Amino acid sequence: MQKNSLFNFDYSYLSLPDKFYSFVKPQVFPKPEVFIFNQLLGDSLNLNNGIQDDFLSLISNKASDTFEKCFAQAYAGHQFGNFTKLGDGRAIILGEHLTLEGNRFDIQLKGSGRTPYSRGGDGKATLKAMLREYLVSEAMYYLNVPTSRSLAVFKTGDTVYRETAQEGAALVRVMKSHIRVGTFEYAAYFGSVNDLKALCDYTVKRHYPQLMEDQNCALSLLREVMKNQIDLVVNWMRVGFIHGVMNTDNTSISAETFDYGPCAFMNVYHPATVYSSIDQNGRYSFGNQARIIKWNVARFAEALFPILHDNKDKSLEIAQSVINEFDAIWEEKYFVMMLKKIGIETNDLLNRSLLIELLNIIQKLKLDYSNTFSSLSKALLTDDDSFNNSEFTAWLLKWKAAVNKSDGVENALKLMREVNPIVIPRNHKVEEALDEAVNGNLLLFNKLLSVISKPYQAQNDIRDYMEPPEFDFDLNYQTFCGT
Ligand code: AMP
Ligand code: MG
Repeated sequence: MQKNSLFNFDYSYLSLPDKFYSFVKPQVFPKPEVFIFNQLLGDSLNLNNGIQDDFLSLISNKASDTFEKCFAQAYAGHQFGNFTKLGDGRAIILGEHLTLEGNRFDIQLKGSGRTPYSRGGDGKATLKAMLREYLVSEAMYYLNVPTSRSLAVFKTGDTVYRETAQEGAALVRVMKSHIRVGTFEYAAYFGSVNDLKALCDYTVKRHYPQLMEDQNCALSLLREVMKNQIDLVVNWMRVGFIHGVMNTDNTSISAETFDYGPCAFMNVYHPATVYSSIDQNGRYSFGNQARIIKWNVARFAEALFPILHDNKDKSLEIAQSVINEFDAIWEEKYFVMMLKKIGIETNDLLNRSLLIELLNIIQKLKLDYSNTFSSLSKALLTDDDSFNNSEFTAWLLKWKAAVNKSDGVENALKLMREVNPIVIPRNHKVEEALDEAVNGNLLLFNKLLSVISKPYQAQNDIRDYMEPPEFDFDLNYQTFCGT
């Protein structure tokens, strides 16, 4: 493939038994137009601008040989704890693009119309929801959190009916793959042991080739996915991200954040924070994300039962022993990361309790999560107590002593700069940018995108982006999913 060419598609997923997918073309839309295109991502995938026209041809039913084998994936999943048969109801995979470096990425079109898995849904997406996914997924990428990315948003020219009539859009999503825990649940519940085995072998080859020679591939895959998902969710905890809909169909095997629906960033720290309008009981609240990912990995283990061992009891035993490792791995990874946020590399009990003490103070004083951590760097260099609270001042003294005892101030500052973002996409700034964007003005959207693409760098004139909203904003802020 030449540099700057169109897609270099392959379709390895279609080597799976055909119950894993359905061939389907996107709907033909009345008046599609490019709304936003991610040039940097396009360049990194060695794509030229011609693909914008190719996309437009595809969804306006003009001839295009680029997209000859589009398909929707079948899957299942536990949604808020309940098992359901699902599948891509409003998305199709256009192909797997191979980059010059040999990396493989699913190119998925979301909001592309009905598929055999749409159930009662219209298969469509609103412009606002797709721009939201674009913005937040790109923000996560620049925050160094593994994530799907967004290549483009197209206006489809049709009207999508939600609570109000809205403009329709389609998003081009780029991801290592869309294989999820729910894909394995689908294979286990609705396929044969051979189907499950085929999916497991395929997944290992695609994402974890280092495990291919292992005696028990399924077991190795389970362990690896558990570790990588822990790393992922620890990163969410680091940046104050609440996914909002951690159903097993939204838990990827490649351990990338994806399916940006009712997600949000926490302002004032409280573990019970939840913004999603459909999460009445706080199942997917900030502080519950560790418990939920463990639950989701347990569903993954269950789906793998038939291929973990020939004997059912033995399978249960093996799965249980892996899940039993979860808590210790989580604790280790969580504290290593969170201690970096206070500039400490030594993960011992004393330092852990120092961190827990800080979190308790932040919660009690209702402080902003991101700003408190990023302001610690300054506090380390001065005696000035801008926190203006005796408990916090006492903690600062203890902490400074611990830093000196650990690896010193220089090292602490370096660690903290790497993991504490100066700026995150604040919910009120996201909403403000989206409201303007759907009215055709992309000024705020592009400004926000530019600010959040350098989250660890000092930037001029971004105070407004760093400030949390008035407390009232968070009390009333709700995010919606499936729009
Ligand atoms: P999500 O909550 O986005 O993970 O979606 C859960 C399931 O509902 C998936 O199978 C989606 O494909 C499907 N879905 C969501 N929105 C729509 C829609 N507008 N039309 C058809 N299916 C949808
Ligand atoms: Mg989903």
